[in-house]
Formats: sequence, C-alpha cells, structure tokens
Amino acid sequence: MDVKNNYLAVLQRIEKLENTHKNQVKLLTVSKKHSLESIQDVYALGQRAFGESYAQEGMQKIQALESLDIEWHFIGPLQSNKTKIIAEHFDWVQSVDSLKLLRRLNAQRPADKPALNVLIQLNISDESQKRGVSLEQAVELFSASSEFSRLYLRGIMAIPENTACLEQQLENFAKCRSVFELLQKKWPVDTLSMGMSSDLQAAIQSGSNMVRIGTDIFGQRI
Ligand SMILES: *Cc1c(COP(=O)(O)O)cnc(C)c1O
Repeated sequence: MDVKNNYLAVLQRIEKLENTHKNQVKLLTVSKKHSLESIQDVYALGQRAFGESYAQEGMQKIQALESLDIEWHFIGPLQSNKTKIIAEHFDWVQSVDSLKLLRRLNAQRPADKPALNVLIQLNISDESQKRGVSLEQAVELFSASSEFSRLYLRGIMAIPENTACLEQQLENFAKCRSVFELLQKKWPVDTLSMGMSSDLQAAIQSGSNMVRIGTDIFGQRI
C-alpha cells in the first residue's frame, strides 16, 4: 500500500473536479484505524487536516503527534461520555446532533483554547440512519448557537446512504446542499462536509467544500 502515491492521486482527482465544477474543496484525510506512520507519511507531503472516529484512539494519536502542526477533526459517533476528550483535544467535531452535546462541549472546552469548530450532522434519509438531525432540528440547533461562546458552528456534515448509483448520490447530496444554503441565509456558516472515497465525485459536483477520505488514501481498515 503506497500511501504517498494514493494521497497524491486523490489530490489530483480533487483538483480536476474543483476545476470542472468551479468550487474549492478542503481534503480531510481520515486516519482512523491507521498508524502514526501513515499519518506522518501524508503530513510530510503537506497534509494538515486529519479525521478520527474513536475518541480514545484519536486522543492517543493527538498526544503522540503533538509536535506536528495538525488540525484534528472528530467525525465518529458522539456519545455524552466522550465529549470531554473531544472538547479538550480536538480542533473540530463534525458529528454533533443534539443540544445536549452542544451544551457539554461548550462547558468542557478549555478556556486557553480557541472556540471548538462544530458541524451539525444532518440525516437526509430519515429511516436508514439513526444519527444526525432533520432540517427542522438543525435550524433549532443553529438558533441556539449564540448561547455557546466556546463553540463556532460552521455548517453541516452528512453521510448519505451508501449507494454506488451516481444519480442517487447526486440526489442525496443536492438535499444536503439545499439545507446548507437555507442555513447560510441566516447564519455565518461556511462548511459543507460531504463526500467519502466512494462518492467523492458526486459530492464535489454537488457543492461540497470538505471531503473526508480514508480508504482511497490509507487502504482498507482492518
Ligand atoms: C470512515 C469515515 C470516512 C472515510 O470513509 P472512506 O470510505 O474510508 O473514505 C468519512 N467520514 C466518516 C464520518 C467516516 O466515519
């Protein structure tokens, strides 16, 4: 598995899609279940934003790589008993889906750190997924955002149903984009995080400005 070549190939694909669809996309490399060495390999090529899905594993990597200038994103399922680890160690959290989690993260964010960047996880396919909120719930959460001085609510993250059908991917991402545009009318949101290894193209075509790529860079997770 040649992580460095994979990474460069993904960057190239993104650049091509950016040019075709006239938007700018940030790459988050998802390193969950992969080694410190793999992270250092792509860091050496200039990558600075990394995503982790498990609080404990993420914290250990953050501590081990403390000397590197990495922006850490928590993207995994978020439980109340993990908010403290996340508030204390990560720079972003993308999987927030309740007022309770916002309150805890706000209370637990250390005073000597900048505000924690937060994305609200959206669920556009209601039944197939338990995680994430509806448009109405997202509006409720953003409406409360001024209560949270230690958080910066920057937009939404979505993981639509896993399908190989491009049409279906585009349809799902279009729904996410329309929610993002609705929120943009009222709040200073700037981040629409959607697109993974299997639906990168559809996501960028649909206006994503942050894609989260694991497998295509680091290979299969064991
Ligand atoms: C694991 C994960 C990714 C990366 O998925 P790949 O298919 O490996 O690119 C992206 N986003 C979230 C929320 C994940 O949990």
